[in-house]
Amino acid sequence: MVRTRYAPSPTGFLHIGGLRTALYSYLFARQHKGKHILRIEDTDQKREVEGSTENLIKSLAWGGVEFDEGPHLGGDYGPYIQSQRTEIYKKYAMQLLESYKAYPCFCTPERLQQMREEQQVKKLPPMYDKTCRRISTEEMKEKLAAGVPYVVRQKMPEDLELAEFHDLIRGDLEFKIALLDDHVLMKSDGFPTYHLANVVDDHLMEITHVIRGEEWLPSAPKHVLLYQAFGWKAPEFAHLPLILNKDRSKLSKRQGDVAVEDYMKAGYTPEAVVNFIALLGWHPGEGETQEIFSMDELIERFHIEKIHKGGAVFDREKLDWIQWQWRRRKFEEDPRQEGEKLVALVQEYIPDEWRTDRLYLERALKTVKEKILQKPQEVRGHIEFYFKENVDVNPELLTHQKLKVDMEVAARSLRAAHDALEKFDDYEYEEKIKDCLSGVVSELGVKNGQVFWPVRSALTGEQFSPGVFEVIWVLGKEKTLQRLQEALAKIS
Ligand code: GLU
Repeated sequence: MVRTRYAPSPTGFLHIGGLRTALYSYLFARQHKGKHILRIEDTDQKREVEGSTENLIKSLAWGGVEFDEGPHLGGDYGPYIQSQRTEIYKKYAMQLLESYKAYPCFCTPERLQQMREEQQVKKLPPMYDKTCRRISTEEMKEKLAAGVPYVVRQKMPEDLELAEFHDLIRGDLEFKIALLDDHVLMKSDGFPTYHLANVVDDHLMEITHVIRGEEWLPSAPKHVLLYQAFGWKAPEFAHLPLILNKDRSKLSKRQGDVAVEDYMKAGYTPEAVVNFIALLGWHPGEGETQEIFSMDELIERFHIEKIHKGGAVFDREKLDWIQWQWRRRKFEEDPRQEGEKLVALVQEYIPDEWRTDRLYLERALKTVKEKILQKPQEVRGHIEFYFKENVDVNPELLTHQKLKVDMEVAARSLRAAHDALEKFDDYEYEEKIKDCLSGVVSELGVKNGQVFWPVRSALTGEQFSPGVFEVIWVLGKEKTLQRLQEALAKIS
């Protein structure tokens, strides 16, 4: 039975990288019909930020990453908050002391400080010098009996050269044991360090696969040795690649948003964010072009061994593209009429006055459909011109050098178009509007652009807008004629 866990420390908001770790461990558990566990690693209470556990749970739920056991769900192996399990870790620290796999260290903070300073001068790596590992058993017992404060340190084996293990992403790895510190497992206040609590819990909670960020790779050999010291079987490990900025530096706040919350607030939907994050370091394989995956598809397709070793670049434009594709997919699945769906999409971004004529609004939206599927929040800029009392077009905009439209051509075309459209009545049909304006083109014996350009810019006042027939279809007869007259008045 596969059991994976996400084990965050409650030190603030959920980072994009944290969501990815949680997502991968969730996908892996689900595709193996296993269990996914949430465990809060809060033994370093100095770093704790209030409210972060709630925030983590909320952000994970938003992303659709589910858990089967955890602080808010219970389960057979809880409590799942490490600060509530300190007695358990203490018991295991004592077990290691008794079996001589760990030792008490009585060095005072002052002595350690002095040791560190000396190491710095000699340019040696900052490691404990093992003074207390060398004291006699008698002296040790005496000190313990006298109640001298102590920490518990892991005894790195001196008779072994390498710590070896297999990583599902990186393959076989080996680390020189001589370079590993006899680090602290339990502090003098009886609180465990990350290493002890993490290994004890992964063992007791029967975790089969530890999936976590690359920043924990240096800890992995220590953990492997700790499993050996306890006589336990170590879980499988998978260390995920770093997430990088475009310049390949480590993803940081300075270059953009890193909190999942920021993306929630910016209006991204969970499907898009999860889809995007899933592709940060994983892809179904060569020759595969699919980029849009639902959670169910991810559960089916995800493959841990296909995760890349190299860093994954965080590309916000790609996120925007994925968001666009997702909005489209949802749009197509939505059974309502197109106009209704479009209004729903831009609901919160348009002023109330624009809603009085519903049909007019729906038509206006239809002419910029792709643009608002891409970024609904930018709707205003795209359709504002439809709602203006006066377009107040800049006469320069009516001309176009390349299309050979000077002021004279513009005036003549606007006049002829106005007259033709005045006699015309089929405003419901874009095709008919086209025929009407094409009639003007042949009547004047000019090129399409010489009529379409000035008419479109007179009606919109914009350099870029939907095409002229669509615009007339939305505006209808009255507004169209009024705008053409206004433009004519400006240039004649
Ligand atoms: N508590 C660690 C963290 O904050 C967990 C590392 C692990 O998954 O072992 O990321």
